[in-house]
Order: sequence, then C-alpha cells, then structure tokens
Amino acid sequence: MSIAENVARVRQQLRQAAESSGRSSDAVRLVAVSKQHSLAAIQAAAEAGVTDFGENRLEEATSKLAAPQAAALRWHMIGHVQSRKARDVVAAGFSLVHSLDSVRLAERYSRFAQEGAQSLAVLLEINVSGEATKSGWLAYNWENEKDQRQTLWMAVQQMAQLPGLRLLGLMTMAPWGTDPEQTRPVFRRLRLLRDALQHDFTALELDVLSMGMTDDYMVAIQEGATLIRVGRAIFGERTLQ
Ligand SMILES: *Cc1c(COP(=O)(O)O)cnc(C)c1O
Repeated sequence: MSIAENVARVRQQLRQAAESSGRSSDAVRLVAVSKQHSLAAIQAAAEAGVTDFGENRLEEATSKLAAPQAAALRWHMIGHVQSRKARDVVAAGFSLVHSLDSVRLAERYSRFAQEGAQSLAVLLEINVSGEATKSGWLAYNWENEKDQRQTLWMAVQQMAQLPGLRLLGLMTMAPWGTDPEQTRPVFRRLRLLRDALQHDFTALELDVLSMGMTDDYMVAIQEGATLIRVGRAIFGERTLQ
C-alpha cells in the first residue's frame, strides 16, 4: 500500500467513526506521526493532503523543520521534553505541543515564548491509565482520589496565569497493546476530566482532546477525540534510527 492509499483509508475510517457517533468528521484533525520516517515519506503524505505532522524527538524534528517543504505544514511536538530543552522547543515553531507534563516546564515555555513576543499553544499530558511508565499528570482516579484532583487543579490554576502559554486541552496515551475496546474507558475518562476542568476554569477554552493512535483511533474518535495521532497506519513500520 502506498502512503497516499494509507492516508485515504485512515480518512475514510475517521469519517466512519465520526459518523457512527454523531460527530462531524470536520471536528477531527489527523496528525500524521512522522517520527523515524524520512522527508520523502512526509512529502508523500503532504501530497495526499495531510497538513499536520507529529514528531517526538526535538533533534529529529528540528532537522525536518529546516527543510524548505516543511514551512507549509503544521508541526506537533508529541514526545516528552526535558526542561533544559524548553527554549529550543519554543524556537522550533511547533503549532502545538501535546506533551506538557509539569508546571516547571510550563513556566519555562511561557518565559521563552514571551521573550520572543510569542505564545505557545499546549496540551496537558494526562496519565489516565495509571501505568507507571507514562508521563503526565496522574489522573486514573481523579473523581475519588483527592490528591490527584488537587494536584492537577492547582497546576492548571498556576499555568492558566502564564502569559506566554495557551492551554488548549488534554492529551493522553492509551496503554500499550490492549484491545481497542479496553482502551475506550481511558479515552472516556480523559473527556470527562476535560469537562470537569472546563466547568471549573471558565476562562480557558479546553476544546482539544488529543487521543488515539494507529490501533485505537476509531474508538478515540467515538469518545470525542479532536486530534488523532496516527503513525504506522500511514507510514508503515518506523525505519530511521
Ligand atoms: C509514536 C506515537 C504515536 C503514533 O503511534 P502509531 O502506533 O504509530 O500510530 C502517537 N502518539 C505518540 C505520543 C507517539 O509517540
């Protein structure tokens, strides 16, 4: 299958999933995760109409963003970022950073963005499955565990004040290798958490839910995803080191 055929298939499934849950397919944006894939592969996806690309490593992203054809595309940082790399992430010019996972990093993003007279659009990464290996704010049981709720609510309160940051929503990674139907509650939990935060932080507009990858994006769409991050279904297995 060519990349163009893959893109067409993913788009068709996106539409099906949206329609099956009474949503408009326009409400769901496809982010093609191009990590460990070449510029030629990115170009092929762009020619098939993909406008948004996701990368998880800053160095790889920076070299791709330097290519002339990259300027017309929107780039998403989806991987963990160390605090000391915050300045470089701001300078790289991502349209959206999905992986904000600490107040400390938020403060640095805000400061560097402000220095450049910009603001950085971010999503808060939330660990809704409780897996110890995942980054993000722990929220696998925020309805019942006061600590989880309090920590996250305080963090949002602090970050909402930062002048160089635009908090646009939430992102999560589902547990690896489980049946998509088993991940459904994880996606639903993220949406309910967003609804609760939106209810309490009326000055924010938390419209974005980044959830769903190759194995589970249809379920994620049915549960309210507005961004899906799809790698293998578009580009095949990852190749570059
Ligand atoms: C790699 C990656 C994806 C894409 O995964 P696929 O299974 O290839 O679709 C999505 N989100 C994040 C954060 C990733 O690191």
